[in-house]
Amino acid sequence: MTYFIIRRLLAAASALSACFFAFTPCRAQSAANDPVLSRLETLGIDSSQTENLAQALMDSIGPRLAGSASFAAASDWLMRHYRNWGIETRTEQYGTWRGWKRGHTHVDLVSPRLRSLEATMLAFSPGTGGADVTAPTVILPLVKDNVEFARWLPNVKGKFVLMSPAYPSCRPESEWQTMATPESKARMDTAIVRILHDWGARVDATGYEMNIGVPTGTLGVALEKAGAAGVIISNMTDQFGEAWGTWAVFETHNARAPAIAMSCEDYGLLSRMTERGQRPVLRVNLDARPTGSSPAFNTFGIINGTQKPNEYVFLSAHLDSWDSSEGATDNGTGTILMMEAMRLLKLAYPHPKRTIMVGHWGGEEVGEIGSRAFAFDHPAIGNAIAAGFNQDGGTGRIQRVWGAGLPDGDIHLRKWLTMLPEKVRPNFAGSHPYVGNTDHRAFTCYGAPFFLLNSVRWDNDAYTQHTNRDSFDKIVFDDLKQNATVVAMLAYVASEDPTFIDRTRADLNAPSPSPTGGASATPSQPVTMTRAELSEKLFPWKPKPGATTSNSLAWDNLGWITTCPNGPRFFGDSSNVRAPSRR
Ligand SMILES: [Zn+2]
Repeated sequence: MTYFIIRRLLAAASALSACFFAFTPCRAQSAANDPVLSRLETLGIDSSQTENLAQALMDSIGPRLAGSASFAAASDWLMRHYRNWGIETRTEQYGTWRGWKRGHTHVDLVSPRLRSLEATMLAFSPGTGGADVTAPTVILPLVKDNVEFARWLPNVKGKFVLMSPAYPSCRPESEWQTMATPESKARMDTAIVRILHDWGARVDATGYEMNIGVPTGTLGVALEKAGAAGVIISNMTDQFGEAWGTWAVFETHNARAPAIAMSCEDYGLLSRMTERGQRPVLRVNLDARPTGSSPAFNTFGIINGTQKPNEYVFLSAHLDSWDSSEGATDNGTGTILMMEAMRLLKLAYPHPKRTIMVGHWGGEEVGEIGSRAFAFDHPAIGNAIAAGFNQDGGTGRIQRVWGAGLPDGDIHLRKWLTMLPEKVRPNFAGSHPYVGNTDHRAFTCYGAPFFLLNSVRWDNDAYTQHTNRDSFDKIVFDDLKQNATVVAMLAYVASEDPTFIDRTRADLNAPSPSPTGGASATPSQPVTMTRAELSEKLFPWKPKPGATTSNSLAWDNLGWITTCPNGPRFFGDSSNVRAPSRR
């Protein structure tokens, strides 16, 4: 998931909880006095299963790309555990997705010298049928317009096309900040910002596009039609270069010419040699297989309610991942968190008042399609959600919880948070239904109180999310154990709450107060301009002429999207999903 900055926090965010005015009764229900909360704490911290579960899921089953066999294996594995724990479980298919099997990626520079390069196929890339393809490289040129580009296109025949800008330095900006002279840092920042900007213009001039989720875009398809042997991209997780040795690996729409993601360093090497006429030649051997149409489905665990079985407390995290590493923090840890919370609840609170249900969604990374399909297909459950808790923010401790744009939801959430032991208690973050690009939004769009759990970031954005380094070792188990315990506690207090959250919506257009509760940043030393700020200064963002900004969404007069579940899809590949999803 990625975060966007909310410009408008809600007036409702400042609504004070009932407990604020009635402090004593809330305190009386605190963890120390409540046997279920005490038991959850003891079980969650002292006999956590998170490490064994995570090791099996990340290392043995591995990454869980939508449409892959390992996604299905992960679902089977989840269901086996739920059955062993006496928890009801089922899957529900909502459509199909293209199936694909990742094999090996071998990329060697073979001339003018030998070096094996750090590279990985993009997801859904065609392979080379296990055979060597040996070919030279060519760089996407700067052309005047699409007519000139069409004239140039035959040059790619039989070559590997370098499609990305090459960074002059693959050291992170933070190192330039601490080690370089101010003049030297300013020079490097300017160089990188200009290179990125000029490259954007270079792509635009072709008349085709590239985007974040499909980084080869329609340009990659045009190159393969012109006979390219393959395309190569370099995709640092932060476009300004804030990480050592990580690159993001998303997907391609190429069908014949393989699409390869390469490290910043090796891509730079190829780019410099190509530019200076040193004629690098690559030998590429890729094993990848399309496996036809695969079922797209969600996996559930259910502990039935005893008093209000038709009201739901929903736990939520996506099961799918990108597949260049193990998908450990995006979102293996969310998966393990929710699984462990269900195990704890079954032991400490086996007869909940309301039904407690966990959704392990398929297809979050390819457009949140699993949660959207479920929210659309089950309006009765959506209306009956007493509380939902979604986690997709990496391995870190849950520090804040976002409200869902419902004033009464904020009051309930604040009250529940006060019931948790102080040492693990997250803060209330503010309230907005659309904060965070992940699965809770499928439900908040319909006005359900589905809350986003916000974690300590642990350099998630630069190092792990969607990268070649999202592996088991990055998991912080003390944080994960605490999270499972906190979520189990929240599920318990929400299940026991005598009242049901009123669906009256906040006015999202109302002016908002400043967020409260966060530490104000007081830098200890003067901070020079970041590359992002420099970029905005040199090349201020402007909408492209003729581009529509609304993404065909409709909004009501309170600022809520009225077009659920077909809200914004972030990676644009909905080609194999029929939407709306009812079938
Ligand atoms: Zn995620």
